[in-house]
Amino acid sequence: MNNAVFPGSFDPFTLGHESVVRRGCKLFDKLIIGVGTNTTKSYLFDLDERTAMIERVFADEKRIEVKSFSGLTVDFCKEHNANYILRGLRDGKDFFYENSIAVMNTSLSPGLETVFLLTAAEYAGISSTILREILRNNGDISAFVPEGMMIA
Ligand code: ADP
Repeated sequence: MNNAVFPGSFDPFTLGHESVVRRGCKLFDKLIIGVGTNTTKSYLFDLDERTAMIERVFADEKRIEVKSFSGLTVDFCKEHNANYILRGLRDGKDFFYENSIAVMNTSLSPGLETVFLLTAAEYAGISSTILREILRNNGDISAFVPEGMMIA
């Protein structure tokens, strides 16, 4: 079994994230979306809200699970027998950030590989940070997130 974890803050989950999940899940037997807490970030949606929103998007997908976690991604992967981490890359800035994390994760957990998918071109400009700014200023983000995700 090849199980992967797609870890992230997902504050909020975007069409860019959804594209990575839908393309990535074809590569693995099971994909677990790990909704985490990055201690360097301040959040707009709390952990339960972020998790519930993503669960709505993938409610019909048997091979995709959504779980919240705290602590190290490598420990979360061990707990769920995942031998791959999935991450998305938009640009060089993402690459530099992701590169050091991936190297550290393999050092912490030998055998754990990180697989990167490039962003789909049409979603390259979408970032959760910008969507949070739009929301804080009462703007509409519905064109950038999966349909129905925000409606409880
Ligand atoms: P984190 O706080 O762990 O960086 P994010 O929610 O910001 O979590 O991002 C999770 C993953 O999704 C990261 O690998 C990030 O590079 C990737 N990602 C974010 N936006 C996009 C996008 N528009 N297209 C492809 N990948 C993306």
